[in-house]
Amino acid sequence: VSSLTAGATLAPPLQQGELHDALVAAGIYLETGVPGLVGHGQVMVRLFRAVDDLVTRAAAVEGAEAMAFPPVLPRRLLELGGYVGSFPHLTGTVWAFQGDEAAARRQSSLVAAGDDWSGSQAMTDLALVPAACHPVYPVLAARGPLPTAGLTIDAGAANVFRHEPSGDPARLQCFHTREIVRLGAAAAVVAWRDTWRDRAGALLTCLGLDVRTERASDPFFGRAGQMLATSQREQALKFELLVPVTAPERTAVASFNAHGQHFSEVYGLVLDDGTPAHTACLGFGLERICVALLARHGLSPAQWPADVRAVLWPGSGR
Ligand SMILES: [Zn+2]
Repeated sequence: VSSLTAGATLAPPLQQGELHDALVAAGIYLETGVPGLVGHGQVMVRLFRAVDDLVTRAAAVEGAEAMAFPPVLPRRLLELGGYVGSFPHLTGTVWAFQGDEAAARRQSSLVAAGDDWSGSQAMTDLALVPAACHPVYPVLAARGPLPTAGLTIDAGAANVFRHEPSGDPARLQCFHTREIVRLGAAAAVVAWRDTWRDRAGALLTCLGLDVRTERASDPFFGRAGQMLATSQREQALKFELLVPVTAPERTAVASFNAHGQHFSEVYGLVLDDGTPAHTACLGFGLERICVALLARHGLSPAQWPADVRAVLWPGSGR
């Protein structure tokens, strides 16, 4: 592991812990002491920006409308959309102190003693954003009927949270997804999703990644969730692009999701012609793509193949 410093060639297939340690040793990931919660060092900041910009250039043809939201959203949106029921194990809610001075003193002494102080905290009306598209739908519904020809929203590189502490450097608790959302008629929305799936596969292939496209399912909770996942696969509602990062399994770095009328039923999204809007979204896992590139090409992007650098940093001349 000591030989895995910046510029060193990694010898795949790496184990998750090996890659994590190499990223930390090279200052690419900044450890916080909590599994799955890291900062970005300078190499990561620059690479992250380059991957995000690459998606921006690929999306330019769409003329998408840009939106950005905070990393917390109204808790009610997760309740309405069924997220809490389907993903109780991943959901994070915001709790805060709401007591008087005596309660604050009690809380303070519990903290000082290293005791459990959760009893003095109460649930707020905020939750952590689990997927960047969630805040988009109610905002669009409030506008009234949407163009029948459809609408594309670029929800940007949003900070999202999933409560799954892990030692896998490609599975963080807090990370960024670059999501683009499409609303419109059923067939057009699914065609859009499939176009982007193929476009994204080509884009990642240009970066030297060995891409495989697979039908996928969301990580629904419990036994009832297994049935939902099976049905999702059978209906080909979700596709993922998988690339090698660490042994033994490939890692999903992008997903392409058709929701049917789910969000229309929740929020009342309708088209100008009076029919319910269908929706789809795609998400690029930005940290995952960066880590896949670092695992593939080595920890020093300055020494990556010229054709890969030209895709990520066009016009840099090197
Ligand atoms: Zn989404």
